[in-house]
Amino acid sequence: MAGSTRWTVPPERLDLRFEDKRPSFDGKEAFAEASRCLYCYDAPCITACPTSIDIPTYIRKIATGNLRGSARTILKSNLLGYSCSRVCPVEVLCEGACVYVGWGRKPIEIGRLQRFAMENARQPSLLPRAEKREGSIGLVGAGPASLACAGTLSLLGYETVIYEKAELPGGLNVSGIAPQKIRAEEVLDEVGFIQDLGVEIRTGQALGRDFSGQELLDRHDVVFFAPGLGADSLRGLSGARGEGLVGAVEWIARMKLDPGTSLDGIRSAAVLGGGNTALDVVQELASLGVPEVCLVYRRSEEEMPGYEHEWLGARKLGVRLLEQAAVTRVARDSNGALSGIELVRTEGGRPTSERLTSVECQLVVVATGQERLIELAAQFPGVACDELGCVIADEETLVTGNPRVFTGGDCRNGGKEVVNAVDEGQRAARAIDSLLRGES
Ligand code: SF4
Repeated sequence: MAGSTRWTVPPERLDLRFEDKRPSFDGKEAFAEASRCLYCYDAPCITACPTSIDIPTYIRKIATGNLRGSARTILKSNLLGYSCSRVCPVEVLCEGACVYVGWGRKPIEIGRLQRFAMENARQPSLLPRAEKREGSIGLVGAGPASLACAGTLSLLGYETVIYEKAELPGGLNVSGIAPQKIRAEEVLDEVGFIQDLGVEIRTGQALGRDFSGQELLDRHDVVFFAPGLGADSLRGLSGARGEGLVGAVEWIARMKLDPGTSLDGIRSAAVLGGGNTALDVVQELASLGVPEVCLVYRRSEEEMPGYEHEWLGARKLGVRLLEQAAVTRVARDSNGALSGIELVRTEGGRPTSERLTSVECQLVVVATGQERLIELAAQFPGVACDELGCVIADEETLVTGNPRVFTGGDCRNGGKEVVNAVDEGQRAARAIDSLLRGES
């Protein structure tokens, strides 16, 4: 039955040791912060939001005590308004665009106000629900893109079934987002909200293993393909795989979900990469008390693709940068335990033969990207990937080369923010509705 299963996570995990990065407001704090908003005409914060939430309106409703109205305003534009309030890089989106920034003053804390409205008033009954209508949509992957797409379509009256290969729904939101931003049980609570809109979720169901693309097309009128990305790419280090060397997404999942994960005996750790996942992991390791944490990046500090504010946060925690460096060897002791890495200098991001240094460490986390799921896309006739392994689709409607298959999220955009996945899922839902109504 749709929405009947609820998932839980083990009570003992490393992620419980993290402080909340953007803690909840209480009622007085929220009122005071909402009252600072100028309710700008043509508000730049709306333009900066990929889902175009009417930010001044929901903030005004908080200021006037209309929390249900505030939550409705958010959910009308973004069904995952709760997780977006927790994990969005607001510094470079809505808050970065707030008019206060231009005057050298602190922007409105839009993310925390959105969290306040969501925590206090998010309910399925806030959203209008259409009569049941003909049409069934099968969705591959239970990450933010599928959850937003399925929730939107369910509200429009369609049958929606999500197939997820993992045992837990939520995608990277549940297992791959830094635990100081959102915890797995909070993500599962939001998944429950989407289920309450009428969405059915079947976990432990893998495309290509438990069913084929053709079987899915036979079962449903339309498919939404959003499996995310694949396993961590270990880029030349796969031969060194073993205890102590792990991919970043796998490492974050262990911290968030595995009660057996511990940092006992880790005196020094190295994280490879310069993107936001790498910056999350170095901050996590330093916050969890690893005495020496270094970031190894193959280009210069200025070229790091991660957000500047995240790198500043890492530096404040004492993280050391080894720039223009690449690992050439992973050393292990006679017992096979990881003992260090050797580095050479890079030029233009490529390793040279010039030895740079060696670093003693007991843990290496590789955060240099994830594999693409090209073979999964090939399960559907007409669906193709570009040279970067991203699924090719129409920018506006998200329809692929197969008119019955739509796509969105990381498998299409290569790995952007949760809010981008939500936007793509919702846009695809509107296009699927048009198709099923015979309007396109
Ligand atoms: Fe309020 Fe800032 Fe948005 Fe203006 S830009 S409406 S002050 S949050």
